[in-house]
Amino acid sequence: MIRDQETLQLLLDSIGSFVKEELIPREEEVAESDEIPEDIASQMRELGLFGLTIPEEFGGLGVTMEEEVNIAFELGRTSPAFRSFIGTNNGIGSIGILLDGTDEQKAHYLPRLASGEILSAFCLTEPDSGSDAASLRTTAVKEGNGYFINGTKRYITNAPHAGIFTVMARTNSDVKGAKGISAFIVEANTPGITIGKRDKKMGQKGAHTADVIFDNVWVPVSALIGEQEDVGFKTAMKVLDKGRLHIAAIAVGAAERVLDDSLRFAMERQQFGKPIADFQLIQAMLADSKAEIYAARCMVLDAARKRDEGKNVSTEASCAKMFATEMCSRVADRGVQIHGGAGYISEYAVERFYRDVRLFRLYEGTTQIQQVIIARNMIREAQQ
Ligand SMILES: Cc1cc2nc3c(=O)[nH]c(=O)nc-3n(C[C@H](O)[C@H](O)[C@H](O)COP(=O)(O)OP(=O)(O)OC[C@H]3O[C@@H](n4cnc5c(N)ncnc54)[C@H](O)[C@@H]3O)c2cc1C
Repeated sequence: MIRDQETLQLLLDSIGSFVKEELIPREEEVAESDEIPEDIASQMRELGLFGLTIPEEFGGLGVTMEEEVNIAFELGRTSPAFRSFIGTNNGIGSIGILLDGTDEQKAHYLPRLASGEILSAFCLTEPDSGSDAASLRTTAVKEGNGYFINGTKRYITNAPHAGIFTVMARTNSDVKGAKGISAFIVEANTPGITIGKRDKKMGQKGAHTADVIFDNVWVPVSALIGEQEDVGFKTAMKVLDKGRLHIAAIAVGAAERVLDDSLRFAMERQQFGKPIADFQLIQAMLADSKAEIYAARCMVLDAARKRDEGKNVSTEASCAKMFATEMCSRVADRGVQIHGGAGYISEYAVERFYRDVRLFRLYEGTTQIQQVIIARNMIREAQQ
């Protein structure tokens, strides 16, 4: 749902210009330094990019899902590290509080997340629990008016910068699986929290992940999201459902950027006395990429509109995430091929994108997990 086309267009234009004029020229610098420069972070705050999805009453822009994916199409056109920096506050780091938090929790945290005063992170994955998230082992044991949290979380995006963590921990060790899990908001300066070394990653330099270790970390009962025990896994799954559509839209934007670069290169590069764009085998790669991007864009928009209508989009979100992220890798692979040897050299952005977009198929549910969700939903519906 688009609330006001004109207002959205103004926002898209300003984000589009920011991407083109400020972010794309700084991509190489970010890849080299592995840092988002402070002046870029300040501009992001000024543009309100940390609070896109947070409701206006808490200082954000409160965009709908359809508006959000349109913004993500724009943001996807530059290095995913920029998106990752603002991504947790708009997604996995805030949505749990927004959907299931108490009024006090929302009022306390959301305005600071919307302004970008603090960053947030989402702590679900553990060393022995990834796709099988419901098997997580981190515990939160109740004592008096609070809980002691113990455990290790792995690959946590923005952990080195976060002011708060949404932490999924087992409050009921008698119940195996999803039912005994609760979600907590834990402030990063709470005694007993250690952040591990930054992970050395294949790509997305400038975006940082690390372990977060909880050693007898005490939090008050008021840190429990919604002050309700044993429903934290449901919160986590709702967060990921929404996140999948966002990642799918980012993947569409990234694929469009790679295709634009590849088309420009193909029209300039000459072999056998003519631009390589004149060769039908190159044209086939361009055309396949164009058609697949178009299909993914349509899927993402359709799923976003259905979500805005209040429909359950578990299947559609997984279809869109799976198709768009796999498509994006295919387009990046063809992009390298179209560039020839130059595609393997880091002077060309396509080399970096090829590595950067690989992550989209892994986090917020791997492609295999999307397949499992889609098929499980199909079987459930057929049984009804
Ligand atoms: C850069 C980065 C950032 C991340 N950020 C965060 C974050 O902020 N917060 C967070 O909580 N997590 C985060 N993650 C973790 C990410 O969500 C997990 O890595 C991902 O869910 C996969 O889990 P795993 O790595 O343990 O792989 P595994 O679950 O061990 O999977 C290994 C392989 O087995 C396959 N597989 C597993 N189960 C099945 C099945 N039932 N059927 C078929 N195949 C299956 C998988 O698809 C995969 O191919 C991040 C990861 C990375 C790399």
